[in-house]
Amino acid sequence: MAASSIDALSKPTVWHEFSPLANTSNAVNLGQGFPNWDPPNFVVSSMVDSVQTPGTATNQYCRPNCHLPLANALADEYNERPSWSHLTVDPMTNVMSSLGCTQVMYCAFRALLEKGDEVVLLEPAFDIYGSQVILMGGVPKFVSLKTDLSGAALTSNDVFTFDFDALEAAISEKTRVLVLNTPHNPTGKMYSREELTKISSIVSKYPNLVVFSDEVYEHIVFDPEESPHISFATLPNMWDRTLTMSSAGKTFSTTGWKVGWAIGPDDLIKKMTDLQQWVNFSSPSVTQDTIARCLKKAREPYEGFKTFYDWLAADYKKRRGVLEASLTAAGISPISPQGGFFICADTSKLTFPDSVYEEESLSAPSPMPRDWALARYMTHTNPKVAVIPPSPFYSAENVDQAKNYVRFAFCKTDDLLDEAKTRLATIDKSGDLEKK
Ligand code: PMP
Repeated sequence: MAASSIDALSKPTVWHEFSPLANTSNAVNLGQGFPNWDPPNFVVSSMVDSVQTPGTATNQYCRPNCHLPLANALADEYNERPSWSHLTVDPMTNVMSSLGCTQVMYCAFRALLEKGDEVVLLEPAFDIYGSQVILMGGVPKFVSLKTDLSGAALTSNDVFTFDFDALEAAISEKTRVLVLNTPHNPTGKMYSREELTKISSIVSKYPNLVVFSDEVYEHIVFDPEESPHISFATLPNMWDRTLTMSSAGKTFSTTGWKVGWAIGPDDLIKKMTDLQQWVNFSSPSVTQDTIARCLKKAREPYEGFKTFYDWLAADYKKRRGVLEASLTAAGISPISPQGGFFICADTSKLTFPDSVYEEESLSAPSPMPRDWALARYMTHTNPKVAVIPPSPFYSAENVDQAKNYVRFAFCKTDDLLDEAKTRLATIDKSGDLEKK
């Protein structure tokens, strides 16, 4: 099964196409979601301490579950969150770490799925989920978020809403896993307590169903009073069937260090650890040790803010404001994200030459969807700002839902956001890119 499923997935991905296209076109790259700056000083000095402090043994293998200092730091971190106060995370049995959230999820799918098991994904969904399910011989089942652009102020929570009836219809005895993602890539939607409670009412009906809650953007939240980050595991009776997944990449601007973790009940964490010991045995000790130090420091005052996390959210909120203003001035309607570092924007007013549909593309589905062609045109011709088409976040049958959007990343330095503003201003506001 695995070998043939790899053949089926061997096509280059959207990332293989747009990063080189951005480079060869000299585009301002607001495509892929990695912060293009160095990590904060305390993160760098934590790495130095992890290497230099005598006796830390960060040059050696660590436990397959999780490097112990990281397990302790994570248990402290989650146990201190007010919304987790009714739960107790035991560092020895409830924490597992691996190479980013991506491999954490891989281990979880591998540990739980039997051939033919169904996995329900709410689309648009981060493209790795569906591919991993196929690799395991599972069957992805997609449920689309509803989209409504009629509101006066476009915010991701209002535009993208969850369809209770569609989710209820998709989940059955055959469903082994439901994947949630909040804050959500690519829309920035944050699931409300009401929405999560409704989801938990469906989940409760199926004892065999496990929820993976991908929370990698948990600290990039713009309006915590109105729209707080809520972990699905903290809802009544959901702890026993939820794997909360997160990672250090977005929070500490260290996507390349690939430190990710799962928090969950003993039985599920044990299955994942049992698997990992036969795959990579353990993950790198030195990066885990560093993140353990960072997790402690992040809760201390930082740059005039109560914590580093507060500073991080405020810094991203500023960047979101800059990009939204540039997009609005250019006649593109941003759908304001409540969390994360992406903006999906409504591009329905923009036009571009039909010839773009005929261009050779490494990875576009055939026929090339409109969002894909527009993203190519915006990257290579006008305004030379690289963006990502959201269609890879949709299943083949629903790709059409992506046609009017493109995704912009604002995890970028001021100079890039300023240059993007200048270039976006070259878009014809009458809505005709072709004239330029
Ligand atoms: N989940 C989501 C929703 C993401 O956007 C990303 C990265 N873009 C990941 C997981 C991957 O996380 P990591 O780098 O920790 O593997």
